[in-house]
Amino acid sequence: MKVMKFGGTSVGKPERMHDVATLITRDNEEKIVVLSALSGTTNSLVEIGAAMANGDRAAAKQVIDKLDAHYQTFISNLLATEEAQTKCRAIIAEHFEFLNIILKISFNEALNKDILAQGELMSTKMFSCYLEEKGINHMLLPALDFMTIDSYEEPQIGSIKVKLSQLLNQNKDKKIFITQGYISRNARGEVDNLKRGGSDYSASLIGAAINASVCEIWTDIDGMHNNDPRIVKKTVAIEQLSFDEAAELAYFGAKILHPASIWPAQHYKIPVKLLNTMQPDAKGTLITEEAGSVGVKAVAAKDGITAIKIKSSRMLLAYGFLRKVFEVFEKYRTSIDMITTSEVAVSLTIDNSTHLDEIIRELEPFGTVELDKDQAIVSIVGNEIGKTEHILSKLFESIADIPVRMVSYGGSPHNVSLLVPASYKTQTLQILNKGIFGLD
Ligand code: ASP
Ligand code: MG
Repeated sequence: MKVMKFGGTSVGKPERMHDVATLITRDNEEKIVVLSALSGTTNSLVEIGAAMANGDRAAAKQVIDKLDAHYQTFISNLLATEEAQTKCRAIIAEHFEFLNIILKISFNEALNKDILAQGELMSTKMFSCYLEEKGINHMLLPALDFMTIDSYEEPQIGSIKVKLSQLLNQNKDKKIFITQGYISRNARGEVDNLKRGGSDYSASLIGAAINASVCEIWTDIDGMHNNDPRIVKKTVAIEQLSFDEAAELAYFGAKILHPASIWPAQHYKIPVKLLNTMQPDAKGTLITEEAGSVGVKAVAAKDGITAIKIKSSRMLLAYGFLRKVFEVFEKYRTSIDMITTSEVAVSLTIDNSTHLDEIIRELEPFGTVELDKDQAIVSIVGNEIGKTEHILSKLFESIADIPVRMVSYGGSPHNVSLLVPASYKTQTLQILNKGIFGLD
């Protein structure tokens, strides 16, 4: 049995949804198809929640009406017969009735989660209507019946496994199951979610739970590329990556795979394939335990990084200094990404500066604290990078004119990271494309 996940753009237009139906019926393997909400819908639902939280019901109502109109047009183009359209409109109307009812009741966080869940509930139901019209035998599997998270918001893989296998056993005659990505039920039994972009995570968890032959993530690019196609002219798709390499890249918002979705697949040894709905026969990228080959595979960058330097002569020959520094970050639940140290100073980076002021205040007693905002991490990712011939000389020669703020090498055999001012991000990615991959 396999998992096929389609993201928002893959279901975002009626004709794309038609393509998804073709893709899931190309082979006879049993499958669970995981869908995101139509592209743009979750953003609108976030807007509705935000307007409600501000007490601005008129603004919320406006977004709801606009969304409703969008779904009406979508249904007209998705389904051919009057009969199928009428049935589908009635199903979708229930969701808009719900959204209109919440306008009248008092708003809270639990209700917000209910609002956010409407996107995936609607996309899967509409897709099911289309499959039904086409006479494609399938079953809608409500994610809220099996996808659960605990009180730390961590997925309960054991219980997901049990519930899902029960549901599948009760429906042995079915070969195609459709379910919602993103949404889940929390420890209080309320509707919740796996955070923005979480449909990949759902797919990977489902893959792990059913011990899938493969977890296919279908998007609109042919896999992971060696560099950012929006920034450099020429990029190539990466054929094979290990989970460790994929994890390094996922952090950089190589947007095609959500970072959290890596561990379930890695832990349960489920191969992941990144595929392109527009070019279904292209190879895409295979992610498995093995890296496939030695060498550098990609460069990636992330901006919005803040570097913090703590300088203190008390650090000299002292022990326990770093622990005290790290505890401050732990207290504010802020994760540290890059770190470099000298005998008297430590520099580290964070990408979430929500608690920056408090963090700095608590670091100040340890020494002089300096900040560099608007930085970017540029990372070179591959397998056994250190064993790649002349990699460091190639790297440093290429970046001779870039004012590098930090370098991190040796943290893992899969990564060399540079911290540069964000204004140099584009240039750095471009020169590395030439210097390391020989591409323009
Ligand atoms: N619909 C959700 C979002 O936009 C989940 C997803 O698409 O992965 O974040
Ligand atoms: Mg997505």
